[in-house]
Amino acid sequence: MTATASQDIGRSKTEAMSFLERNASAIATLSDSLFYFGELGLQEHESAGLMTSLLDEAGFVVERGISGFPTGFRATWGSGHPVIAVHTEYDANPDNSQVSGVAERKPIVPGAPGHCEGHNCNAAVMIAGVIAARRAMAEAGLPGTLMVFGAPGEEQLVSRPYFVRDGYFDDVDAALHVHIAGELDTVYGLTHFAAVSAYFTFHGETSHASVTPWKARDALDAVVLMDMGMAQFREHMETDMRAHRVITHGGDQPNTIPAKATVWWTFRGPSAEAARGLFEQGSRISQGAAMMTNTEVSVEVMSAVWPVRTNQGLAEVIQRNIEAIGLPEWSGPEDQFARQLQKAAGVSVSGLARNIKPLTGPTRQRSPSNDCGDVSWKVPMGRIGFPANVPNIAFHHWGGGAALASSIAHKGTLVGAKVLAASLIDLLTGPALVARIKETFAAEIGDVQYRPLLPPEQKPPLDLNRDLMEHWRPAMREHYVKTRPRFV
Ligand SMILES: [Zn+2]
Repeated sequence: MTATASQDIGRSKTEAMSFLERNASAIATLSDSLFYFGELGLQEHESAGLMTSLLDEAGFVVERGISGFPTGFRATWGSGHPVIAVHTEYDANPDNSQVSGVAERKPIVPGAPGHCEGHNCNAAVMIAGVIAARRAMAEAGLPGTLMVFGAPGEEQLVSRPYFVRDGYFDDVDAALHVHIAGELDTVYGLTHFAAVSAYFTFHGETSHASVTPWKARDALDAVVLMDMGMAQFREHMETDMRAHRVITHGGDQPNTIPAKATVWWTFRGPSAEAARGLFEQGSRISQGAAMMTNTEVSVEVMSAVWPVRTNQGLAEVIQRNIEAIGLPEWSGPEDQFARQLQKAAGVSVSGLARNIKPLTGPTRQRSPSNDCGDVSWKVPMGRIGFPANVPNIAFHHWGGGAALASSIAHKGTLVGAKVLAASLIDLLTGPALVARIKETFAAEIGDVQYRPLLPPEQKPPLDLNRDLMEHWRPAMREHYVKTRPRFV
């Protein structure tokens, strides 16, 4: 790279950083707006509406409703290669309404959904970061395409496998995912598990449970027997496999033997083949349960995702920007709050993140899943973890929501947006970098053939969470942020 080229990159980055600084309060308002929307997967109408309107205003071409998801979107700016995609999620969790800024369990609306994994911050990082990068592209006349994906329903692992299946990543050269963390970091290697999630619905025949029980075909019995079959099978599962379930319908009243009962299972494993194999075994067990109870079983796959892997070349680009940008400067009261929360949540009390970890060898694969797994086998993918959560606090716990609209989240989100914008500028100005990333990706994938786990004809489960959200939204609406973020 010539000295002038590197000065140009430096100038673009400096301008992007000052744009983000200038808009710190708009970024915080965006993140807080989504926090109070607290929308469950596939019902993120307010969240996606706000995000897409901001992208519209920033000059992106926005396509709403991609792959049949009303709350999914793609926003594009620029033309030609490299095509750099950014994607993230913005859904909340059921029964996790939590007041931000208090170190105790205290719901905003008791029983209502709420963010407890910081996907509100993910959305703000993505939107602010891509707007900053787009401005830098326009100002410096950079070639290439910025492609922004809004991915609904991550908590149920729903949308991105559909986007990949439907060809939205066919022309993408590299992709970045942003996700909240307790630290500012990136890793490479296999990070998450593959998963297949499916509803098993048994169909039988009702009868009076006391007068003519012999006339019934009991669907709930089949659910129970499938459970017993899975329990026996656990002994023979490979040690790192997971299977967990909830019974979503088990009948209505004890005196009517249920003709319909549904159990929702998630099967996980370290590889796509492992998750697929476990799902197939679960399906055989369901057939056995149906046979024993004279019922029939129908299986509906809800989601099916590959394990997440991240690319070494991209991790190196991100790490350089992490080290250049650094952690936020935390105040005394912020660190004190973090310690109170860590104590209240019963985790190790270490305060807020103070150090940036070096990028060492491949990371250890962990057992959660994320539906960006499919993206990560289709194109090289990097992941930016940004420090908008208190370290050591587990997600899906009230503590995971307790800092999400606080100054800790605002500072961590701003830093995340800076790392994203800077990494995008590097990728858009470095064709050699992109070529190297593609090369390392090919070596990492080896001879693994990506084949979607998602059935080819599968349609998005659009009713997911609808009733819950319709029930809670009116009470939650009273807490919405009154101002609208504006980027200047
Ligand atoms: Zn998440």
